[in-house]
Amino acid sequence: MKSALKCLMGLLFSCLLLPAATPSFDGNLAFTYLTIQTDMGPRNPGSRGHATCIQWLSETGEKWADTVVTQEFTGYNPYGPNDVSLTNVIYRFQPKNPDRVMLSAHFDTRPVADLDRFRRSEPIPGANDGASGVAVLIHLAQILAQFPPAVGVDIAFWDGEDMGRPDYPEEFCQGSRYYSQHPLQPVPHKGILIDMIGDSELQIFYEMYSLRFAPGLAKEIWNTAIKSGYADVFIPKYGPMVYDDHVPLSEGGIPTVNIIDFQYPNARQNYWHTHEDTPDKCAPESLQCIGDVLLMWLYGQE
Ligand SMILES: [Zn+2]
Repeated sequence: MKSALKCLMGLLFSCLLLPAATPSFDGNLAFTYLTIQTDMGPRNPGSRGHATCIQWLSETGEKWADTVVTQEFTGYNPYGPNDVSLTNVIYRFQPKNPDRVMLSAHFDTRPVADLDRFRRSEPIPGANDGASGVAVLIHLAQILAQFPPAVGVDIAFWDGEDMGRPDYPEEFCQGSRYYSQHPLQPVPHKGILIDMIGDSELQIFYEMYSLRFAPGLAKEIWNTAIKSGYADVFIPKYGPMVYDDHVPLSEGGIPTVNIIDFQYPNARQNYWHTHEDTPDKCAPESLQCIGDVLLMWLYGQE
C-alpha cells in the first residue's frame, strides 16, 4: 500500500514536471526540405526534376497524411511544342471533417529565366519561387501527423503555376485552376497560399487580391504574426497585386490569402525568374517565421 502510494505520487510528480508536448516548427529542418528539392534540379513540367518531385511529394505524404490525392491533367505549355502532363498533390488530414482549411504552395518551377541577363531560355533552380513554400508545408504535414488539430486540413501542392508568358495570366496557375473546377469534398472554407517566402531579406506586405477576396483573414494572419513577434516581417501596409494561385482558388469558392514577398531580395536587386534563385539567397530563419505563423494560426482554428 505504502509503495503503491509512493509510486502514484512519483507518477503525479513526474507529470507535473513534464510539460505537455506542444507543436513547434524547426526552420533548419524545413530548410533541408528546400535543398532536397533544389538538388532534384529544375522542376519545370516535363523535366526529370519535375517527375522526381511529384514522386517525393507523394511518398512523403504517404508517411504523414491521412490520405494523399493526386490530380493528373494535361497542361498548356507556351514555351514548348507539346502539351505537358501536370499533377496536383493534395495531403488530406481528417478527410471527412467538413470544418476544414487549406494551406497550399506551388511546387513547379519556371521553365525559362526570362528576367535574367543570360541563358534566358533555360529553366531556373526555383529555391525561393517554388521550393520555399513546399518546404514549409512539408514540415507542417510532419507536425500535423503528430499533433492533430481541431479542424480538417488540406495541404495542396500545385503544379503548373509558373508556366505562363508575361501578360497571359490564364497560362499561369494551371494546377489551382484545375482544382477549382474539380474540388475535393468536403471543400475547405478558407485558405492560405504561401509563395516566395524563403527570401533571406523577408518582408511581407498585404497582397491586394487577398484583401479583395479575404480581408478579414488577411488581417487575422497579420495580427497573428505581430503577436508572434514578427512585426518586422509582416508589415500591415498595402503591397503589390500578384496574380497567383489564390485567384482561381478564391474565385472557385475558397477565399484565400497569399503570403508572398514579391521583392526578392529587395527593391534594388532582383533574383526573381533568374538563375540566381538559389538556396544561398534563402534562409532557415525565413522558413521559421512563416512556419511559426502558420502553426499558431492553424492550432488557433476551432
Ligand atoms: Zn514564379
